[in-house]
Amino acid sequence: MKKPILLSPPHMGDRELKYVQEAFDTNWIAPVGPHLDAFEQEFCQITGAGHAAAVSSGTAAIHLALQLIGVGRGDEVFCSTLTFAASANPIVYQGATPVFIDSDRKSWNMSPDLLREALEKKARIGKLPKAVILVHLYGQSADIEPILAACDEYGVALIEDAAEALGATYKGRSPGTFGLMGIYSFNGNKIITTSGGGMLVSEQSELVAKTRFLATQARDPAPHYQHSHIGYNYRLSNVLAGIGRGQLHVLSQRVAARRHNYEFYTQGLADLPGVEFMPEADYGMSTRWLTCLTINPKEFGCDRETIRLGLAEQQIESRPVWKPLHLQPVFSECECFGGEVAEDLFSRGLCLPSGSNLTDRELSLVIQTIHQVQQNSIQK
Ligand SMILES: *Cc1c(COP(=O)(O)O)cnc(C)c1O
Repeated sequence: MKKPILLSPPHMGDRELKYVQEAFDTNWIAPVGPHLDAFEQEFCQITGAGHAAAVSSGTAAIHLALQLIGVGRGDEVFCSTLTFAASANPIVYQGATPVFIDSDRKSWNMSPDLLREALEKKARIGKLPKAVILVHLYGQSADIEPILAACDEYGVALIEDAAEALGATYKGRSPGTFGLMGIYSFNGNKIITTSGGGMLVSEQSELVAKTRFLATQARDPAPHYQHSHIGYNYRLSNVLAGIGRGQLHVLSQRVAARRHNYEFYTQGLADLPGVEFMPEADYGMSTRWLTCLTINPKEFGCDRETIRLGLAEQQIESRPVWKPLHLQPVFSECECFGGEVAEDLFSRGLCLPSGSNLTDRELSLVIQTIHQVQQNSIQK
């Protein structure tokens, strides 16, 4: 049996187990304890965020952010369309309606021009959104400044979904730290993982304090259990925060390894026609969380799906670029500004195996298999 090559598997360093052992030794097994506090502090140091609250997932962090802004029934919330469903699901948890915004080609992220257009249109009919959820896709920051400027101009809160972009930069700073709140994910496939987890950050300490309050069942300060708010059970475990602390130590190595994958792929596939990699915008550094490319089938000789299936035959996992949310059956009724760019990237885009623990031999095997698929197609 050949060992499968996965898209983005977890990659532990050498301190995680020590921190977990420490949690066991001191019996801090609950969603409270010293690792949790330290993880939040160390996360702030690394990202430059003002304050941070560790929660059970990135999705939970988005949900709490919307809750804190007071998003509710009848409200609209703008969201990037080219993203994972978890970016928008919490909008629906709150009884609000998502409105999707297309990407621009230079970053594959939300188009600042389209966002402004959408805000202008909504302002004219007196129905501005309660918030904008801006996604930083595949390890690359969106063009935050013009987006933040448009949000500020219309008085709309900006929530940054930086689930895929920890370790990236935008003009030297971490995406996720510009908006009113930012969120990150430590799911098993992200650049670092706690097996499952997330973080909410903000410059405003009250928002982060309130996040912790809501994430731990909204208990009023009383010896008996008393509640004046509906709360959630969303806090991260102290055991998992230990894993997170270990992973933060190796974050810069993980970024370097993923960027190495990208370099290796670009060199190895440079001779193939009709292949274009996700561009890196000049305002920052992408982590290349996933190496993504688009295929022009006429020039290449076959389409994206043929490549994906050819790789799968060799036990190599690759995936189409996110199916845009406005095309998802569950969001089919939702309004979308633009959509053609995301649709094109979805129909021709492929994410290659991008784990930080890939060996050069494995990378070469992926490259070789893609060459093989292409050869077979043009001979037909
Ligand atoms: C993974 C991901 C999320 C959700 O994070 P979880 O920790 O898995 O809940 C949200 N948005 C994007 C863009 C993601 O990639």
